[in-house]
Amino acid sequence: MDLSIVIPIYNEETNLPALYARVAQMLDAQPSWQAEVILVNDGSRDRSLELIRELAARDPRIHYITFSRNFGHQIAITAGLDLSSGAAVVVMDGDLQDPPELIPALYAKLQEGYEVVYAKRRTRQGESAIKLFTAKMFYRLLASITSVNIPLDTGDFRIVSRKVVKALKQMPEQNKFIRGQIAWIGYRQTFLEFDRSERASGEPGYTYSKLIRLALDGITSFSDLPLRIATIGGFTVSGVAFLVMLYAVYARFFLHNYGVGWPSIMVSVLFLGGVQLMAVGVIGEYVARLGANARQRPLYIIEDTDLAPEPAPEARY
Ligand code: UDP
Ligand code: MG
Repeated sequence: MDLSIVIPIYNEETNLPALYARVAQMLDAQPSWQAEVILVNDGSRDRSLELIRELAARDPRIHYITFSRNFGHQIAITAGLDLSSGAAVVVMDGDLQDPPELIPALYAKLQEGYEVVYAKRRTRQGESAIKLFTAKMFYRLLASITSVNIPLDTGDFRIVSRKVVKALKQMPEQNKFIRGQIAWIGYRQTFLEFDRSERASGEPGYTYSKLIRLALDGITSFSDLPLRIATIGGFTVSGVAFLVMLYAVYARFFLHNYGVGWPSIMVSVLFLGGVQLMAVGVIGEYVARLGANARQRPLYIIEDTDLAPEPAPEARY
C-alpha cells in the first residue's frame, strides 16, 4: 500500500458525496498508486455512517471505522492512523476545507526525502473574524510558550511517512494534540501552502468548548509554563504582601496610624483569593490530564470496521 487517506467524519452527510467524488477523481488521476481511504465515523448522528457503508461497498478503495460514540476529531485521526497500512498517510478534514487535489503535491514533496509535509493555510475563507483572531493568537501563544516548534497556522492536514505513524503509536497520551506530537517527533519536516476554503456545507463539529479543550490539550501537553507562572505569581504576590505587612507594622507603631483599614484588607484578601484559585485551576488542568493517563483507558472503542485490527499490541506501548 502506497498511500492511506484518513478522514474523520462527524455529521458530514451533506459533504460525503462531494468528498468521495473529489477524492476518487484525484486517485483516478494517479493510477500508479495503491491507495486506501479510511473514513472514521466519529459517532455521527446523521446518515453519515449509512453513506460511508454505501461508499465502501461500491468502491474497494474505501474503508471505514465506526466508533461507539463521539470521541472527538483528534482521536478519530488516531484510530485512522492506527489501522492504516500505507507507506505514506494523509490526514484531512471531511468537510472539503482541505482540498484533496493538493494530495499529489504533498505526496511528491514527501518523496523528496521528508517524513512530514504539512499543508499551511495561506488564507482561510468563510470563518468568523473571532475564530480567525483566536486561532491566530492561540498559535502565537503556543509557539511562544512551548519548546517544540509547532508550525504556525497549520491544522492537521498533512502527509506523514510510516516512520512518523510508528512514532505516534508510541505516544499513548489521552489528550491528543496530533500536530504538536508530530512536531515533537522531529525528522525532516516541510510544508506546502494552500488556500483553505469554506466548509462546503453542514455545521462545524468543533464547538467552542471542544476548541478550548483542544487548545488546553495543546498547551498542557507541550508546556509547563502555566505551572511556572502560578509559582512565580504566588511568590510575587506573597512578596508584595510581605512588604505591605512591614508597612502596616511601621504605620501602626511609628506613624501611629490607627485607621480601620478594612478596604485594604478586603482588597488583599480578594486579590489573594483570586490568585490562589487561578493557580489551583492551572494545577487542576494538569492533574486532570495526569488522571486521564493514569487510568489507561483505551483511546476509543471501535464498533465496526472493515479493516484488519491493529497488527501487534506491543507496537502501541
Ligand atoms: N470532527 C470529528 N469529530 C468531532 C468534530 C469534528 O471527527 O467531534 C471532524 C469533522 O467531521 C471534520 C473535521 O473533524 O471532518 C474538522 O471538523 P470541523 O470542520 O468542525 O472543524 P474546523 O474546520 O471548524 O476546525
Ligand atoms: Mg471544518
